[in-house]
Amino acid sequence: MTYDIAVLGGGPAGVVTASGLARLGYRVVLFAKPRRIPAVEGLSERGLVGLRYSGCHQALERMGPAVRRLACWNGEHFSGNREWLIERRTFDAALWDDARAAGVEVVMGRAGSAQRQQTLWRIPWVSREGSGECRAGYLIDARGRAAPHGRNPVRGPLTVTLGRFWNSPQAGEPGTWVTSFQEGWAWLARDTQGAILLQLVVSTANQRLPPRAALAEHYQALQSTVDEARVWLDRARPLGGVFARYAQPQFNPRLLGESYARVGDAAFAIDPLSGHGVYEAISGGLALIATVNTLLARPGNAQWAERFYREKISDDFLRMARIGRDFYRQEQRWTIKPFWRERQIWPDDEPAHGVAQDVSPSIEMRPVNLEGFIDLREVIVTADHPRGIWQVAGVPLVGLLRAWREQGDKSLTDFAQGYGEHHDKPLNDCQAALAWLAQRHLLGSPPKDG
Ligand SMILES: Cc1cc2nc3c(=O)[nH]c(=O)nc-3n(C[C@H](O)[C@H](O)[C@H](O)COP(=O)(O)OP(=O)(O)OC[C@H]3O[C@@H](n4cnc5c(N)ncnc54)[C@H](O)[C@@H]3O)c2cc1C
Repeated sequence: MTYDIAVLGGGPAGVVTASGLARLGYRVVLFAKPRRIPAVEGLSERGLVGLRYSGCHQALERMGPAVRRLACWNGEHFSGNREWLIERRTFDAALWDDARAAGVEVVMGRAGSAQRQQTLWRIPWVSREGSGECRAGYLIDARGRAAPHGRNPVRGPLTVTLGRFWNSPQAGEPGTWVTSFQEGWAWLARDTQGAILLQLVVSTANQRLPPRAALAEHYQALQSTVDEARVWLDRARPLGGVFARYAQPQFNPRLLGESYARVGDAAFAIDPLSGHGVYEAISGGLALIATVNTLLARPGNAQWAERFYREKISDDFLRMARIGRDFYRQEQRWTIKPFWRERQIWPDDEPAHGVAQDVSPSIEMRPVNLEGFIDLREVIVTADHPRGIWQVAGVPLVGLLRAWREQGDKSLTDFAQGYGEHHDKPLNDCQAALAWLAQRHLLGSPPKDG
């Protein structure tokens, strides 16, 4: 019962991290506790790519259909991208199978509070079958929003979602619909059989949630103010009661400690409006695999590994929070309503993305993820990529740029062909990397070396 690494929580962040570390040869145990509340979510295309990249084939197989996402915001109608419906209990169970296939020991039980004694963490756990204690050298907290808050978490506006399942007798197209209303916004997902989830996202800053017995009445009052709901739920019958899920954005600055890390929603949780929570959890997991591998196998690079992880997670959190704010700002009809006012000013007034041309690019040494380890490499830093980009399509950019500067007067195609042959890189990949440099005007005016 002694492992190299213990992961608490079997959502996408925990499973991706545990599986990646097990594939690198670590003995990993994962504690997974099934969800109490049913949930349907929409997975973005990036989430799908992330699952494929992480080897989560069972989860991909057991996902719901791709559906169209339609939105009505500020009174305007949009046809958004596709999303894939996931029923979280089925999806999470498939993820646990993926973890087992990767060599992770999955314990179906609730992990208690872990204590560090000398060089090992001791983790008590309970399950339906019994209880026990296991030991591990490194501890990863992936318990989602249930993870205990670290000191001084950064918190966004108080947000709760009220959901209810419905059954519609009418045949209809499957899909998801988002609409804004005075007190918040609504998300509806409908499958081919007419099963519907209508979720209302509201603030609890000024009005606390009523007791559980009065939730259905509260939901009904809110739902009656959503014009579209009348059409969506025409002749539909409710199935079961109303359930609440807390959805306040938050960031826990204590991302890493001694033999300890947080990942996924336990590190930062974003507003569900983004539809990218699962993708961000996977992306954080992928970054943590290389970080932990470096901390354990190449401790000489520990400071770079920690810097890499801290910067990635804090940047992702701020960027996603600002993107959310900008989307809330597009709704102009109810700007004096507390729900909208709070979200249109949080987290700050800074732009979500730097503009490539705003700051002249420079070449700097930065930590990068290099085949499972974090190491220092020369990267190109631009305003739109403040942490720097070191390669595009597998082609290191700084080497490519220097070779371009040193070449005579070859055309881009001839140069790409010659560079590809010399460095054993496909022509298309060299062209993609050159296009990245050209878009930032780097091929004409070389960046200063810093
Ligand atoms: C209302 C709402 C709607 C959302 N809609 C979307 C959406 O449409 N698309 C999207 O991409 N994202 C959505 N999200 C965000 C998404 O759910 C999360 O970002 C994502 O699941 C985070 O993954 P995770 O692995 O960090 O945490 P989770 O998926 O929450 O997984 C954590 C796991 O840890 C388990 N756990 C907790 N405590 C313990 C313990 N003591 N022992 C063992 N296990 C434990 C939990 O049971 C859970 O299985 C939504 C979130 C909310 C709140």
